[in-house]
Amino acid sequence: MSRIAYVNGRYVPHRDATIHVEDRGFQFADGVYEVCEVRAGRLIDERRHLDRLDRSLSELRIVPPMTRAALSVVIRETVRQNRVRDGIVYLQVTRGIARRDHAFPDKPIPASLIVTSRSADPVKRDKAADAGVGVITVPDNRWDRVDIKTVGLLPNVLAKQAAKEAGAKEAWFVDAKGEVTEGSSTNAWIVTADGIVVTRPAEHGILRGITRAVILDILAAAGLKLEERAFTLAEARAAREAFFTSASNIVVPVVKLDGAVVGDGKPGPVVSRLREEFYRFAEASA
Ligand code: PMP
Repeated sequence: MSRIAYVNGRYVPHRDATIHVEDRGFQFADGVYEVCEVRAGRLIDERRHLDRLDRSLSELRIVPPMTRAALSVVIRETVRQNRVRDGIVYLQVTRGIARRDHAFPDKPIPASLIVTSRSADPVKRDKAADAGVGVITVPDNRWDRVDIKTVGLLPNVLAKQAAKEAGAKEAWFVDAKGEVTEGSSTNAWIVTADGIVVTRPAEHGILRGITRAVILDILAAAGLKLEERAFTLAEARAAREAFFTSASNIVVPVVKLDGAVVGDGKPGPVVSRLREEFYRFAEASA
């Protein structure tokens, strides 16, 4: 079965799914995106993802391509046409097509919208998380508005590639102060020797992960201690547990950091509990 993409008003096979050479997403990474999990045929946390999309768009003064209700229909239809029960749906909105010029076009232009969806094997994903994964660290060389979910992801691409070449699953960015900001496509967490869960506050230095927000709800409900503050690489090395979160992988235990064992080298009790509880707290669409 060929995969189908929604591109600016049409559902087309991937081989025909093309955008204009002067789309500002292509020319300038002048666009934003979202990735939402599909699980057992339902969208996970759609509301929060679309809220974040609205925020990203408004920070960049891009007018949404359609209403939220219409976008919801397109998302569902793309998932349906690709027969995805478990996987992800990806949406990207760019400022649109205009003669190449750095400044915004003078005349309003319609934003471009693409939506794709693909299956992922939840069993395979769970297996990786059962064992725990390795993470490497790289200097955070991104701009200071990474809270906007833009498609300008080159530093993230290079970080993920470095992780892959090192045999690790993710790369954590470390800023000039020696503090971990986040992963190349995930938020970063540790559990200290005292059992306190620590993650960086959602300011401009990290993306406000939707999975992160759900984890905060679980921690509060479970009465687990949380500190929303930056943590250093040294603290991460000494942590009892470490993990990362994202909509496509949910909660993944980190058992190796730059080649050194974290905690006792196995997924710990806090991360295991968060994995267990996640879908009780996330919102699943009807
Ligand atoms: N940080 C970055 C840089 C990301 O790209 C992502 C994934 N989109 C996340 C964090 C996790 O966010 P979410 O839980 O919303 O997927």
